[in-house]
Amino acid sequence: KKIIHQRTNTTPFDLVPQEEGAGVTVRVMKPLDATELSLETVYEKFHPSVQSFTDVIGHYISGERPKGIQETEQMLKVGTALTGVGELVLDSTTIKLQPPKQGMPYYLSTMDFNSLLQKQESNVRFWKILTVLFGFATCAVLFFVLRKQYRHQRERRHLKQMQDEFRQAQERLMRERNAEGGETLRNACVVCLSNTKSCVFLECGHICSCTGCYQALPEPKTCPMCRQAISRLVPLYNS
Ligand SMILES: [Zn+2]
Ligand SMILES: [Zn+2]
Repeated sequence: KKIIHQRTNTTPFDLVPQEEGAGVTVRVMKPLDATELSLETVYEKFHPSVQSFTDVIGHYISGERPKGIQETEQMLKVGTALTGVGELVLDSTTIKLQPPKQGMPYYLSTMDFNSLLQKQESNVRFWKILTVLFGFATCAVLFFVLRKQYRHQRERRHLKQMQDEFRQAQERLMRERNAEGGETLRNACVVCLSNTKSCVFLECGHICSCTGCYQALPEPKTCPMCRQAISRLVPLYNS
């Protein structure tokens, strides 16, 4: 259901004092702009629209098919006590009550002024409480989100630190192992590459072979480094 067109007609009315003959009347302008105005519906009728063939085609194209016209008449009964809060204007001879400028609220109510005031105040209180509650909720949510993010970041930093430490330890270990390997390789016999060097060849003085490999050298025995004849063998003792 959709309102295609709405037209509102209002009848201006006057507020008169309760005591007879006081003579001051206030003309109420634009009463439908006021909040809190409760009107009594006195007439309501629905006029279904009669549709011709062309209308049906037109409505089919536009997608809107009017069902009819709803006519409603609402009124304030004569003698209703009404409280108005708005802007009072003296226009030549009549005093007018109109909606205040700058978008301030305009009230017309069947309640008396005090209960109207009370209602507005309780409304204000309700909104204040709601605002405070929302403020707290927002703060709480913000706090939790920030804390979670902080923890997440701290965890990530911790993890990264651990990874770094692990990598450093691994590198250190590798270095040590390499150094060790270099050491053993430098001490290994150049012939078999597995035993440690354990004898000095004379007269050249090379330390390059283990005793087993020396014994396995073909006769006449020559130094594997410089091919000089080996006249004497001195065993080497590492202390
Ligand atoms: Zn050897
Ligand atoms: Zn030699």
